[in-house]
Amino acid sequence: MKVNSAEIVISAVRPAQYPEGDLPEFALAGRSNVGKSSFINKMLNRKALARTSSKPGKTQTLNFFLINEILYFVDVPGYGYAKVSKKEREAWGKMIETYITSREQLKAVILLVDLRHPPSVDDRTMYDFLKYYEIPVIVVATKADKIPKSKWQKHIKIAKETLEFDPQDTMILFSSETGEGKDQAWSVLQAYMKK
Ligand code: GDP
Repeated sequence: MKVNSAEIVISAVRPAQYPEGDLPEFALAGRSNVGKSSFINKMLNRKALARTSSKPGKTQTLNFFLINEILYFVDVPGYGYAKVSKKEREAWGKMIETYITSREQLKAVILLVDLRHPPSVDDRTMYDFLKYYEIPVIVVATKADKIPKSKWQKHIKIAKETLEFDPQDTMILFSSETGEGKDQAWSVLQAYMKK
């Protein structure tokens, strides 16, 4: 898809702050540093629209990006920071759970994992959580440029096994360095927009 416009419209914590209307939404989740901001920027052809995900101490919000006036990316704060307090972790969990379970416009969650390593315990917990609520998941395996192409399929297989991947979901190899997977990611998103 050719992206003509992309802008952040709101940073929300509560449902009352979510944008009005019924445009399709895709939430993006992943552990901090997985490459989520880079993925968003690459998909939107921007250098720095999405900033590196919220660091501990910063307000944790859902950031809604309106794209071409026809869909939203909803950036979810990254997980897996060791230093986050129990209270912050609980607030984060509640915010995500409320959004995931109440938002009818949510078409799928884009879950980013690092292709180089097997998905972490946090990644598995997130995947299980989404499957529990029967949310379609598009797993984007990032940083593909960091391993040789000859090993890609082996790493994809390990990622699928580790997550106990649902065959109805999609897994995409991605690199924000080379643009690998970008066209595929857009076609998968466009297919979900029609559902
Ligand atoms: P976030 O915390 O998930 O938003 O992660 P960022 O997008 O800020 O990326 C974390 C680090 O990984 C940065 O140094 C990026 O330049 C790097 N990175 C992200 N995606 C890729 C990728 O596809 N390939 C390579 N080589 N580096 C990447």
